[in-house]
Amino acid sequence: MRNAGLGAWPARRAAISPGRTALVFEGRRITYAELHDRVTRLAGRLREAGVDRGDRVAYLGPNHPSAVETMFATHLLGATFVPLNFRLTAPEIDYMLAHSGPKVLVYAPTSEPVVRALSTGPMLVGLVDKYEQWLVDAPRPAFDVPVDNDDPAFILYTSGTTGRPKGAVLTHGNVIWNCFNLLVGVDVAGDEVGLIGAPLFHVAALNQCLLPTFLKGGTSVIMPAWDADRALELIEEQRVTWMFGVAAMFAALTRSPRWAGADLSSVRSVMSGGASIPAALITAYEERGLTFCQGYGMTETAPGATFLEARESHAHKGSAGVPVFFADVRCVRPDLTDTEPGEPGEVLIRGPNVTPGYWEDPQATAGAFADGGWFRSGDVAVVDDEGHFHIVDRLKDMYVSGGENVYPAEVEAAVFEHPDVAEVAVVGVPDDRWGEVGRAFVVPVAGRRVDAAGLRAFLSGRLARYKMPVYVEMVPDLPRTGSGKVRKAPLRVQPLNAGTPGEL
Ligand code: ATP
Repeated sequence: MRNAGLGAWPARRAAISPGRTALVFEGRRITYAELHDRVTRLAGRLREAGVDRGDRVAYLGPNHPSAVETMFATHLLGATFVPLNFRLTAPEIDYMLAHSGPKVLVYAPTSEPVVRALSTGPMLVGLVDKYEQWLVDAPRPAFDVPVDNDDPAFILYTSGTTGRPKGAVLTHGNVIWNCFNLLVGVDVAGDEVGLIGAPLFHVAALNQCLLPTFLKGGTSVIMPAWDADRALELIEEQRVTWMFGVAAMFAALTRSPRWAGADLSSVRSVMSGGASIPAALITAYEERGLTFCQGYGMTETAPGATFLEARESHAHKGSAGVPVFFADVRCVRPDLTDTEPGEPGEVLIRGPNVTPGYWEDPQATAGAFADGGWFRSGDVAVVDDEGHFHIVDRLKDMYVSGGENVYPAEVEAAVFEHPDVAEVAVVGVPDDRWGEVGRAFVVPVAGRRVDAAGLRAFLSGRLARYKMPVYVEMVPDLPRTGSGKVRKAPLRVQPLNAGTPGEL
């Protein structure tokens, strides 16, 4: 097999199931045969534009079938695909382009203003003015580029919740092993209809939903942007059978006016990852007959590291499951010795799904591995007596109040139990007396008010005093990354303006 990578997938799938629908996008259906045809033509054009084995091709734009086509065409040529977050500013995109050095940038019309402001210069291919014209009458060359499992398939810039983005490299092998890990945990069938509401420039939508669905010959329904009302409409219209999302997306579905009357009878599995899922949300879905499977992982592990199958979720509420089938995961103390059950420690991962490192960043790569090839997640977890992982928080989000470690995720889970709280984020802020104390940013449910004193009274039986947030502020929304996670860095530096702190 000369092309052992993802670039061969459209041809292989077209040989098996040419007439089945690969992608649905705003009423348009693309079969596997059509997709294969378009990908081959596009690869021909990219080759004419000078893209060769080992080069990079970048994509900038919201979810669209062309992102999938560009990805496969890039892989067919043995090049590396660099999907970029379309919400970033021109200087941020410039940084990533200068760092990854793509030969071509395919971009959506909505990204035109950003593209015009760029100072770095790959060849620009606009979806409207060039891309479609390119494909008309394009030749369909036969490609026979050797691609190995160890070749880089993606450079994915981590969303930067902890600082300057790093370009995590994922090889074809990393992604394929992740697909196997996922298929061990979820009964993905050939008639699957997956809803892609999360952004395709992020590892999860691509590798936890689109590619496993593709491998099995199912259909991916791509949403241009996440919209809870539209998602419920699509679930009914397209008879969606599964979807991946972060907790905030699943919560938004329950708040939609369509939720109560929505026909969810086609849905077989709901998969959540990227953040822990609140117990109240698990219950809301169980009331509708849906049990979450949950995953823990990160861009660098392609992404699955641990997985909790739906059938296990009752017995292990709140857990992120056990290590995925083809990876080893352990929890360690700062001296890298293994923790005991119940003792918090950093999660380390080793396996065929783990990144070889960061693009052109040997220093970051060296710092990311410990103890002979174990990837350092930077997350704290507790492993219980039965080997189940419970993700506590990120190491860097932990703060120390009066000598006690506080994990904001635990405080957030308690605040979230309050019926008037829609969203919450807690950070540690400096304090003369305690070293650090908690500051909670609360988004109330529409039409409700959450009063700081009332919230603290609500928390008093639920949280130890030293964990209680001292500052509580109502905010209209929280800053989020492109993949929907709360960005804590801007919250940490926001000047205190909430007036009087509460009593500890
Ligand atoms: P950066 O690496 O720059 O901080 P990021 O964290 O958003 O950006 P991702 O790879 O998208 O990068 O996210 C991975 C992180 O998400 C994990 O390291 C972990 O902190 C968190 N996470 C993922 N799954 C879960 C889960 N099931 N429960 C709790 N946290 C999770």
